[in-house]
Amino acid sequence: MSENTVHIVVADPNYNPTKEQKEKAEAFFLEEMLTEYCNGCGDNVENTHISLVGSDFEEITCPECNHTHDRFSGDMSDTFDEKLYENEPQNIDITMSCCGKTIKMHTLKFDDYGAFTHYSLSCLEPTGAFGYWDFSDEGVQTEEDYDDEGWEEEPMYYGMKMTQKGYDKLAEILGSPVKVIWERG
Ligand SMILES: [Zn+2]
Repeated sequence: MSENTVHIVVADPNYNPTKEQKEKAEAFFLEEMLTEYCNGCGDNVENTHISLVGSDFEEITCPECNHTHDRFSGDMSDTFDEKLYENEPQNIDITMSCCGKTIKMHTLKFDDYGAFTHYSLSCLEPTGAFGYWDFSDEGVQTEEDYDDEGWEEEPMYYGMKMTQKGYDKLAEILGSPVKVIWERG
């Protein structure tokens, strides 16, 4: 079985929640959104700088002209390869091949598998709590279904999709919308 990590990131790379907001979000994430059956939580670094979260993304979009570049091939791939994980992306200039504009690296847009952010909450192999994750793919529609499956002996529910309630609650606590990113281990 492959190991997957979920990262919930503040979607706006320029927005840095306060220490109090981060502490509240982390407590909420660990206590309300996940169960005690998770394999690995608490790896939530309080970033004071912007960093890139996620590694499985393949498409990177220019913030100026919205052209989408392939991360691994094409005329921007060497630049991405060299620069994407450097520190302080907000201070790194990149000249885009699509439109010739020079942009700050942290303004690049990613597909569903990457984001520049000041803050992320992460968990390896999360076991999600009912209400905050959608288990309908696993045949669970109601809280009763969730409780009835005898899963306490063998944790089985694995929330791949956060519900709107989860998005709303975290956005309310952090003061800005969040994005969910999965990373294969
Ligand atoms: Zn462009």
